[in-house]
Amino acid sequence: MQHQYADRCKVRYHNSYTGVGAEYFSLVTDYSSRKILQQISVGGSDKYLVEEVDRDADGNSHTYKVVNVKTSDAYTVSDSCTRCTCSFNTGMLLPCRHIFAARQSTGLSAYDTSLVADRWLLTTHATSVDARGCGSPQLTSLVISSRSCSGARTMSQREKYNS
Ligand SMILES: [Zn+2]
Repeated sequence: MQHQYADRCKVRYHNSYTGVGAEYFSLVTDYSSRKILQQISVGGSDKYLVEEVDRDADGNSHTYKVVNVKTSDAYTVSDSCTRCTCSFNTGMLLPCRHIFAARQSTGLSAYDTSLVADRWLLTTHATSVDARGCGSPQLTSLVISSRSCSGARTMSQREKYNS
């Protein structure tokens, strides 16, 4: 049921979203844009407490401690607010809610190209631009992956022929 809810969010964002972070749709795949917007909506709330932590005596370098007010879970966000210690950021290489919470508290924009790993960029997934009009996220990712798979297979078969 959580899955269904997420899908509904995805479709809404996909069709008419023009708020904070809408720029991501022209930078990364629809799949990752929707993931990012979900993180922005959570990180922008008052669920997180952001605290600056000095790393050296001068106070020139610091990180951000982002604490979930409800659960007291704490994560560390880097000096430039581009990296976090949580599993979403380290696993997906997409900006997480903690990064957005830290960015909001320091007045940084929610949109920053350096927050996203190359693998999510539209320039890497050129086919997802064609698939944008499609209403089903599952179908979109299926098309992309099957295309790139068959492309790779065709190439290796050709290589076999040639050798
Ligand atoms: Zn995080």
